[in-house]
Amino acid sequence: MNLPAIENDETLYSLCATAHSMSASSSSQRSSLSLIGTLHGTLQHDLPASIQWLVECRLAETDTASKVARRHSIAAYYFPFVSPCRYPLISDLWLGGKTTHARRLIQSSSRTLPVAHPLKWCEACIEEDLRKLGRSYWHVAHQFPTTWRCSRHDFSLAYIEGRHKRWLLPLSCLLQRSAPLPSGSAAMASILSTVGETASQLESVQITSIRQATLNRLQAMGVIHSTRRVHHDRILAWFRSNPLSTFLRQAPAGLARFSEGEWIAPMLWRQKRSNAVRWVLLWSALDWSTSAEAGAFFCDAASALPIVRAGQVELFDEALPIPETPSKVSSVLESASSYEEAMRLLQVPRNQLVRWLEADPEMRARWRQRLQKERVENALQRLISSFLRNPSISSAAALSSADLRLLKSHAPREYEAITSRLASFRPRQRSLPLDG
Ligand SMILES: [Zn+2]
Repeated sequence: MNLPAIENDETLYSLCATAHSMSASSSSQRSSLSLIGTLHGTLQHDLPASIQWLVECRLAETDTASKVARRHSIAAYYFPFVSPCRYPLISDLWLGGKTTHARRLIQSSSRTLPVAHPLKWCEACIEEDLRKLGRSYWHVAHQFPTTWRCSRHDFSLAYIEGRHKRWLLPLSCLLQRSAPLPSGSAAMASILSTVGETASQLESVQITSIRQATLNRLQAMGVIHSTRRVHHDRILAWFRSNPLSTFLRQAPAGLARFSEGEWIAPMLWRQKRSNAVRWVLLWSALDWSTSAEAGAFFCDAASALPIVRAGQVELFDEALPIPETPSKVSSVLESASSYEEAMRLLQVPRNQLVRWLEADPEMRARWRQRLQKERVENALQRLISSFLRNPSISSAAALSSADLRLLKSHAPREYEAITSRLASFRPRQRSLPLDG
């Protein structure tokens, strides 16, 4: 059976379905057998079970078969998250037709949170492909489990559920009824598509780096206080009110199971086995203003490039320790009595100071405590000088209300002393012949 030339972003299933439709054969099984050596090729629309046929059909050499299969199937989505040391094993298993084991290694899928891979298409892509090639085909990126929007046309993807006994092409599905589309935010769907596609184009994602970048971002967003302590409840509360959670609740193909967010904390702190779906979902939820921003930052974080964004977010590879605060900075922050003074001594803008403080929560806590202590002491000094200037003050109205408030909340004993002093003047005041 003749195979047409495969498009750069076409799935292997799509290639076989096209060959079948060109052959005018009426038997899907016979086409499957002659193309890929098994009767059940139609069921493998997401990931080919065995890839030996790629070599026999001269689509690849033995040593490039798994690369070709990766590029032309949803393996493109999962592979970057697989440790590169597993590639040779995966390649051997895949060539040998040890499907279940190969699939498990590629998808790193979990029993508790499985996802389905329905066939998905974009109507605008079909039109464009028919115009350019005279045929429609299944685009690899549309099949990614977290992709529900065509990033080329910004169209919602239509989809057909389940595995099928026939070779399907997008054009034939167009005439059928699409399964109900996941409603929800188009912006969220665009971010998911972009992050998934960005990841798929990377050779390999540095998991330690993406984990650290995610923690830093969550900290900068104020979701967690420290990246080292586990904040299960805070993560749950944040995720459940996130637009992504709303999106997932209505999403098909097993994605609704991710909407509650229990999977996040173990992945971040216990470093539980994780896979592409979870990282793409979590990264997409991190409050991005555009899908391009989400994709660009993912790319940098996954490649372990340090990023400084608007002086707020710093992303570092976990292998590189978070940089120590310079000792001059620490000593100024241990002695200066205000932001202005520290900024003047260090010759840096305020946001730089804030970043140093955020990078060292203990130093920040000491700094805040000391600033507050100084503010209270200054307030007390001002109140005492008011008394010294005017010993007969008898009403709080003559004193700074801000200073009194500060004292009341942070130095109750001193506040008590001041107010009792005010009170001690009152009998004398009452003794004045004012009412009579
Ligand atoms: Zn499209």
